[in-house]
Amino acid sequence: MEEKEKSAVQLRREALLDDRKNGYDRLTMEDEAAMNSYCEDYKRFLDAAKTEREAVDEAVRLAQSRGFVPFTRGMLIKPGDKLYRVNRGKSVMLAVVGDKSLSEGVSIGAAHIDSPRLDLKPSPLYEDSELAFLKTHYYGGIRKYQWVTIPLELHGVIVKRDGSTVKVAIGAGAGDPVFTVDDLLPHLAAEQSKKPLSEGIAGEQLNLLVGSRPFKEDEGSERVKLAIMDILNQKYGIVEADFISAELEAVPAFKASDVGFDRSLIGAYGQDDRVCGFACLAALLDTDHPTHTAVCMLADKEEIGSTGVSGMKSAAFDTFMSDLCDAQRVPLKACYEHSFCLSADVCAAFDPNFPEVFERRNIAMINHGLGFCKYTGSRGKGGASDASAEVVGYVRRTMDAAGVIWQMSELGKVDAGGGGTVACYMAERDIDTLDAGVPVLSMHSPFETTSKLDCYMTYKGLRAIYQGK
Ligand code: MN
Ligand code: MN
Repeated sequence: MEEKEKSAVQLRREALLDDRKNGYDRLTMEDEAAMNSYCEDYKRFLDAAKTEREAVDEAVRLAQSRGFVPFTRGMLIKPGDKLYRVNRGKSVMLAVVGDKSLSEGVSIGAAHIDSPRLDLKPSPLYEDSELAFLKTHYYGGIRKYQWVTIPLELHGVIVKRDGSTVKVAIGAGAGDPVFTVDDLLPHLAAEQSKKPLSEGIAGEQLNLLVGSRPFKEDEGSERVKLAIMDILNQKYGIVEADFISAELEAVPAFKASDVGFDRSLIGAYGQDDRVCGFACLAALLDTDHPTHTAVCMLADKEEIGSTGVSGMKSAAFDTFMSDLCDAQRVPLKACYEHSFCLSADVCAAFDPNFPEVFERRNIAMINHGLGFCKYTGSRGKGGASDASAEVVGYVRRTMDAAGVIWQMSELGKVDAGGGGTVACYMAERDIDTLDAGVPVLSMHSPFETTSKLDCYMTYKGLRAIYQGK
């Protein structure tokens, strides 16, 4: 087709106005091929990593296959070294040592690998009306009504009385049974249906149905519960009291799938924030000899406030960084003040089915690329790290130079709600930090939706950050 000469007005418009084009109008053929292969790897990661512990295991497996070795205190390091350290099986930090000294700072990609779910209570198993259930306490911000009448898997660990640990993963294997939380039939739900959405299902109703067949040839009560314990004892060697020292998580039993006739979207559980976790990890695995040391932080406990020994507030990150700095006799504070962190966490995508909560000029759009978020928080940016113009300017330049498709975003309308990420905890360490991530539809639901283009551009953005300041 013959290219028409642009009018003066057209040229002026292009020079001055910020037109938001769909990413597919800008995607190169090379990027499209790389995007498709990246997203296949990403879906495999999602299916292998349904919990934070499994995400750590999978990250370590992938890192080892790319030459990463465990970093221990006192180890000598040299440029090009690929190191990792696991924090209590639930968080992992990885680094590729750069050519420059750590005193010139590091480039960090930080994401969280915990996701909303139903955790088992310490005394979960009971029988009611000849059915066996497990009591749960939900983890993170879920909309409870979304978690009933879907198939659920059970993943986690049980530490037995003798100190040995059993790993549990039921529901993911071929032929495995699944579990479910039941809900009322519509015929009898007249009263329930009048309740506000947030009260239709109560927290104490999120009980996992786990069996119905009574123990045979027994006269006592709770025969269904006994039969379930008998199965668990045979399979895992556990007794009821072992639930006390267990961490078992009920998670959706869906596999990651392409969504749409055009397969342009990915639907899966736990994309907040394993979509950015995988991008941070995959980009680091593809980073060789960066100028500044590149660090990937995959944190736990973000969904409940980044608390605890495996959350972003934990000193475990500082200890890892300070052990690295000690190897070069560099003060940690000198490293931090010259560092940059891309806090990679999902953002809300504009949903045309619910336009009323979004502000269209400042919301991430599906297929418009990696979404930067200058601030999160709620009610007047409360709790946000609020990146400076200089920091946003640095990232903007870096992304444009690397050909990353990106956009600016805000969570929603002012005062419509709010949220947080690990960004403020990085910033509080004296590390310049900007939030950025993949726009998501149905965030925190059992089946979250992202776009392949946005997933890939997040990986590409992280690569650019690791490659250089
Ligand atoms: Mn998140
Ligand atoms: Mn979240």
